[in-house]
Amino acid sequence: MSYKLLIDGKLVDGKCQVDVINPADESVISASPVADATQLEKAVAAAAQAQLGWAATPLAERAACLRALGERVAAREADIARLITLEVGRPLPLAHFEAQLVQKSCAYYSEQRLDNEVLLDDEAMRVEVQRVPLGVVAAILPWNAPLYLAINKLAPAVLAGNSIVLKPAPTTPLSTLLLGELMADIFPSGVVNIITDQNDLGAALVAHPKVAKVAFTGSTVTGRKILSAAAEQLKKVSLELSGNDAAILLPDVDIAAIAPDLIFGAFFNSAQICAVIKRLYVPESRYDEICEVLAAGLSQAKTGNGLDPDVQFGPIQNAAQFDKVKGFLEEARRSGTIICGGEVPDGKGYFITPTLVRDVSDGHPLVDEEPFGPILPIIKYSDVDDAVRRANASPYGLGASVWSADSSAAQRIAARLEAGTVWVNQHCAIDPSVPFPTTKCSGLGVEAGREGLLEFCNLKVLNIKK
Ligand code: NAD
Repeated sequence: MSYKLLIDGKLVDGKCQVDVINPADESVISASPVADATQLEKAVAAAAQAQLGWAATPLAERAACLRALGERVAAREADIARLITLEVGRPLPLAHFEAQLVQKSCAYYSEQRLDNEVLLDDEAMRVEVQRVPLGVVAAILPWNAPLYLAINKLAPAVLAGNSIVLKPAPTTPLSTLLLGELMADIFPSGVVNIITDQNDLGAALVAHPKVAKVAFTGSTVTGRKILSAAAEQLKKVSLELSGNDAAILLPDVDIAAIAPDLIFGAFFNSAQICAVIKRLYVPESRYDEICEVLAAGLSQAKTGNGLDPDVQFGPIQNAAQFDKVKGFLEEARRSGTIICGGEVPDGKGYFITPTLVRDVSDGHPLVDEEPFGPILPIIKYSDVDDAVRRANASPYGLGASVWSADSSAAQRIAARLEAGTVWVNQHCAIDPSVPFPTTKCSGLGVEAGREGLLEFCNLKVLNIKK
């Protein structure tokens, strides 16, 4: 199969091609087209040209396009899921889950309305609040969940009457390009454009004077660069950035019962998710026992190629990230105790077996930084107030969770945690209909849900003297 960019309604070749690597065996999945600056210019120009007409298109018609996209994704779910597994590495059932979230996002946003709100209507005045589109949106994406993160920008942006230029990450362009092929004849030309790069077009997209808003998911380092570049033209930005989610286990937890959910919450997608558990705070009185139960549970899991139905954990998505995570593993070996995993199997593929590290604490790089890979530090606490203080001491504030047999007790602790989302007795439960807010250095703005839609609108007030 050959992949194409989507520019001005046409599926076109890039200016060159690069091989996209399967992280499970380092084979070439396919060549991907790569755009150049001229094609970026064409994509933005097409988006700007199309936007006014699209904004004037009735919302019901815009919603119908989204519904049609959801149906196409449903019809091709098997192909999409397989491609996600090939390029991201995620086991096939979880790749299906991502493809299903795309369908849910299309369905959810196609049901949303942006009706005007009448604040005042009397003999003298009528004041109406409207939600109007921003113009051209640039969506810039990371490699860990390419389609979910793309659709959560595309669906609300186009429903609100914006046009969009999407740029996937250089190592995972294929599933987004397949999505482009599926929607090429659904949306009017120029409304949706997809370009790819080799990590060299993002800055130009952000700086482009015709781009009104940048919707970005990725690292805090890049998020800061985008925010400062956007400041020049006072562009709107929404930034979904790095996280270092803490989970606090209260002393009454039934560890055998919650172990599978904890393991899922920490190692989903081999922990290459912004909001998985990255620090696990455990009461000192139960530290040894909890470490043992988790190690016993996790050691049953199989790591390998995501197409193998027996595999629960796939590879690290790319070689650079693999090296970074191996660096964290070395740190863990030097100054912690690895009680599960910690292996880098010989042979092809960027594999690290899911790893639990005990006897580390705050101040260790594994606790303070985001490995973005399958290594979880288990940290002792003696006093829950101290655990809350340490959980909140991070510069990040994406997600957090509290686990207890007593949900009310957990909710009282949850109220004190500084994070966009605090889960109780679960972690990383996401849905396109539920807002995913950010705090501190984890970002600006909200993605998903109704609030995620409003991020793609300007408020406009029509104030009429009668
Ligand atoms: P990254 O910041 O390196 O790259 C993300 C995207 O930004 C890529 O498409 C890249 O080409 C582009 N880019 C690079 N430099 C740019 C610049 N100067 N201007 C504009 N665009 C530029 O992130 P990554 O390594 O692909 O992803 C991993 C990070 O993403 C982790 O820190 C993770 O926590 C974060 N993440 C956050 C969320 C969230 O919702 N908060 C979700 C997924 C991942």
